[in-house]
Amino acid sequence: MLLISCPNCGSRDETEFHYGGQAHVPYPENPNELTDREWAEYLFYRDNTKGTFAERWLHSTGCRQWFNMLRDTVTYDIQAIYPMGTPRPDKAGTPTADTGTASTAADSTTTGTAAPSTSSTPSLSRTTAPEGATK
Ligand SMILES: [Zn+2]
Repeated sequence: MLLISCPNCGSRDETEFHYGGQAHVPYPENPNELTDREWAEYLFYRDNTKGTFAERWLHSTGCRQWFNMLRDTVTYDIQAIYPMGTPRPDKAGTPTADTGTASTAADSTTTGTAAPSTSSTPSLSRTTAPEGATK
């Protein structure tokens, strides 16, 4: 059993939540210009990471709000929980876990303006765990 710390409600059993897939998958800038292959990759192809993975979660039986979570897919350790629309804490440099604020801002998956930035910011050392990371 996982105890998931909802940003709005606090720690709750994982049965109150629904997994929403990989986080930070940007909506294509011009969907009409994509080939069928590119569109299929946007719709169906996701990373299959072994280790730290950014994913979306919905507190479906609680506040019904979406949030992002950094979770280790091997150990199930929850490393950070952060609002939708904010960058990954381990890549942005400023951990935003445990802000306690509800975010109704659209994620990058729905805005179509954000592009994945995997190399623009230097990655932080893995030894600095985000504050407020819960298990
Ligand atoms: Zn909640």
